Amino acid sequence: MPESILNGTLYLVATPIGNLEDITYRAVKVLASVDLIAAEDTRKTKILLDHYNISKPMMSYYSYNEQARAPQLIEKLLTGQSVALVSDAGTPGISDPAFHVVQQALKNGIPLIPIPGPTAFISALITSGLPTDRFVFEGFLPLKKGRKTKFESLKSESRTIIIYESPHRIIKTLTDIQTYLGTRHVVVARELTKKFEEIVRGNIQSVISEIGKKQPRGEYVVVIQGASGEARSHETEE
Ligand code: SAM
Repeated sequence: MPESILNGTLYLVATPIGNLEDITYRAVKVLASVDLIAAEDTRKTKILLDHYNISKPMMSYYSYNEQARAPQLIEKLLTGQSVALVSDAGTPGISDPAFHVVQQALKNGIPLIPIPGPTAFISALITSGLPTDRFVFEGFLPLKKGRKTKFESLKSESRTIIIYESPHRIIKTLTDIQTYLGTRHVVVARELTKKFEEIVRGNIQSVISEIGKKQPRGEYVVVIQGASGEARSHETEE
């Protein structure tokens, strides 16, 4: 059954985080039915669209041009066009552009429809073996300014902590976790849903030595055990 697309509506469509089959039937129908697809990287989205034999006009929408592009998208929506917003991978708005256009759409009374699907941190969390009932997603940590303060604020965080990291900084970040948070159980999920998917679990020291055995490559999610009751009361006493 074709998805009946509503005119003048912005669809926020989740796409795969690696394996092209990880997309919902509904997401494929929406992408095939809208008037325009706003994509973070049109070349990357074209690979996905080709896989599903979809040919649609595309417009680039990425963090550096979102201030300029958002009004253009809003104008198209106000004239009745239907638009699907996709990011490079996973869910738009999760460490990816979407927030700005969502705000503008709301200001202009444009209906928003989410099309749910993959997001890397949820896959990492559910396979981590760490508590999933309460967690905090921190996205990418600050690189310099505010980094130490962020780690210090996470020291007494009792919920499971999840962060995103690049291959260039994964060892540095794991080392900082050890320095600032102390001995914790940590899970590093690399290249989820892809050919070189790998999940390393253990205490921070063993995970650092395992990850350090080879040149880090690909995309990483780090899941960190929350502070134990003992660590929290120690923290309060300090
Ligand atoms: N919007 C995406 C989502 O819903 O997860 C996140 C985009 S963010 C720019 C990219 C980061 O997400 C990567 O640096 C990595 O930390 C994480 N990531 C994305 N895909 C991944 C994968 N297949 N395996 C592990 N981490 C991934």
